[in-house]
Amino acid sequence: MVLAPKNGLKPTTRFKGRRLTQQQLDLPGILGVANDLGDGGAQAHVHDRGELHVHMNGAVPVSTIQEIMADEATSFPAGFDCERDMTRLTPCKSLAEYLTPWQVLRLFPKKRANLDRLADAVFASLVENAVRFVEIRSTVLYLTGLQSCTPAQALERLIESTGSAARHYGIRRGLILTVTRGDYGASNLATLLQAYEDIGRPKDVVGLDLAGDEETPYPAELPAMIREAKERYGFGITIHAGETGRVENVREAVELFYADRIGHGTAASKDAALMDLLATKGVCVEVCPISNRLTGAVPRDEAHPLQEFRRRGVPFVICSDNPAIHQRGLADDQAAAMAEGLSICDMQQQYEIAKHFSFMEGLS
Ligand SMILES: [Zn+2]
Repeated sequence: MVLAPKNGLKPTTRFKGRRLTQQQLDLPGILGVANDLGDGGAQAHVHDRGELHVHMNGAVPVSTIQEIMADEATSFPAGFDCERDMTRLTPCKSLAEYLTPWQVLRLFPKKRANLDRLADAVFASLVENAVRFVEIRSTVLYLTGLQSCTPAQALERLIESTGSAARHYGIRRGLILTVTRGDYGASNLATLLQAYEDIGRPKDVVGLDLAGDEETPYPAELPAMIREAKERYGFGITIHAGETGRVENVREAVELFYADRIGHGTAASKDAALMDLLATKGVCVEVCPISNRLTGAVPRDEAHPLQEFRRRGVPFVICSDNPAIHQRGLADDQAAAMAEGLSICDMQQQYEIAKHFSFMEGLS
């Protein structure tokens, strides 16, 4: 059920039947707080899971990355130590440090067949975590440079590879197209939407996501473009906001981008009026407990705000963000949420909550 380390790290011990590295044992606020990891307790009661916030390239097992890099004869960047830099297992000093693995994640796949290969590995990991449906997100356009193809071809390939892997493992999947904050946000969104039109508005694409450094401004026209795409195509909208303490980004996500869901949103808990707004509008927070501790979105000496979300009636769903980078899976994030104070009952409700807030149609 739970993924063992696949990056060549030597397991140093076993924790109630699970192999863990020493680094994983040291993760504060998650392990050691409650005895609910891998003991047949919390996880045994949850047979089905829905995953609403996972980045595809953050979900590729390290062993698969190494195989693809070797097959494509791509060198790791100078000074990049795969064992040290490819995973993030302990809280980072900065978001930049957390993002170190992305130096490599943008270097592959150059071959069409390796997109299939990594999609297969991603879905194999999801099925190990009893994920029945997933909304997987990708920036898509990075594939055009790697594979010398058009944006429409890149999107088509992503749909084919993930669709085929999802069918193979019996998982329902939707795609969320990610746009990154910064100067190119609007032009990249226009390119993505044109690609989506060019291939006949495939039903596989269910939503749009805004990601990237929250300190970086976005083009003034971006919110209107996202609202218009929501209206025209029926996309769900999710915005990474409030991960680095910027409360105003969460408010903008709701008021300017018409977000249906917020990625992380941890800063929102510090603003009572904003919590009321999220609760009243039924905007769901995608809570990624392990990621939040590793990035420092929730400092080690503070409680995770998910209990505050619950108290104030803000809906939330537990997600994994970049599970392969964390060497964990959604089952671990649910266990981590329990270590942060949620109950088994809360976890048992998660599947229905994820269905309710999913952008995919026909989940029942
Ligand atoms: Zn994310």
